[in-house]
Amino acid sequence: MIRQSAFEPAGNAMLKGGLHCHTTRSDGDGAPEDVIRLYAAHGYDFLALTDHRYYNYQDFAPDAGVLIVPGMEMDRDLPGEGVHCFHTVCIGPARADGNGFAQDERFAGGTVRDQDEYQPVLDWIHRNGNMTIYCHPQWSKTPAAEFERLRGNFAMEIWNSGCALNNDEDTDAACWDMLLRQGQRIFGVATDDGHRMDEHCHGWVRVNARRTLGDILAALRSGAFYASTGPEIYDFYVEEGRAVVRCSAAKKIRFHYGYAPTRLERGEALEGAEFPVPSHYTYIRASVVDAEGRKAWTNPIFLK
Ligand SMILES: [Zn+2]
Ligand SMILES: [Zn+2]
Repeated sequence: MIRQSAFEPAGNAMLKGGLHCHTTRSDGDGAPEDVIRLYAAHGYDFLALTDHRYYNYQDFAPDAGVLIVPGMEMDRDLPGEGVHCFHTVCIGPARADGNGFAQDERFAGGTVRDQDEYQPVLDWIHRNGNMTIYCHPQWSKTPAAEFERLRGNFAMEIWNSGCALNNDEDTDAACWDMLLRQGQRIFGVATDDGHRMDEHCHGWVRVNARRTLGDILAALRSGAFYASTGPEIYDFYVEEGRAVVRCSAAKKIRFHYGYAPTRLERGEALEGAEFPVPSHYTYIRASVVDAEGRKAWTNPIFLK
């Protein structure tokens, strides 16, 4: 049996985490302490305050009990009119554990011609001990071909609440399959990227980790998590040629392998689905939609 690592039994709770939000430290509406308290009220265990090019470690609301993951959002513009750019969420360890960025350190933006010119920015972030998430490809107007050569991103956004709720831009998972089809090992995260207060707390990851910063980062790096805007996923594995997913009540469950058609199960309150996996598949992943249209996505099981 190959079990997706989010569901490897380790006796951990599935911690709820927010990896991308904005506060008054950059262009968000909410003060950092109010944003943290809002996430606490929605049951989050950890949160990164990822203001634009402005690094943060600080817990502005220690009483709220949310573990703050150090981070920021970095970017470069691409030439041309309108929005066309690369945005990257950076998250990292404590300063003492090798994080090269300082509290309140600010960084310049700039322009690059293409992904090859952006790669040194990622390399510099990685050299400073941070992990990177490729953000909102649809909003950035970068189809997969414009970022598929970037190296070192442990994950990309497959759901961004701000983009989905404001702009109806929710097709980032299609870009994910294009990278996965190429054999890339990259995981999918749901984030909020909230700027207004009502944009927070709609998309999250559930991480199989103990509640320490080091454990959470290690679990994210290894793909031991799933992404959600509502449904819960309890298990996902491949055994004797069958993929099996177990989840909270769903109306649709899909299996994806990067090409059409996806395998679709429909029902009123599905608790899971199974699918015989053809031997030529290089990976398989599952997604779930509940009665309210909310989604959850497993990370892939890599088969080759
Ligand atoms: Zn962004
Ligand atoms: Zn953002």
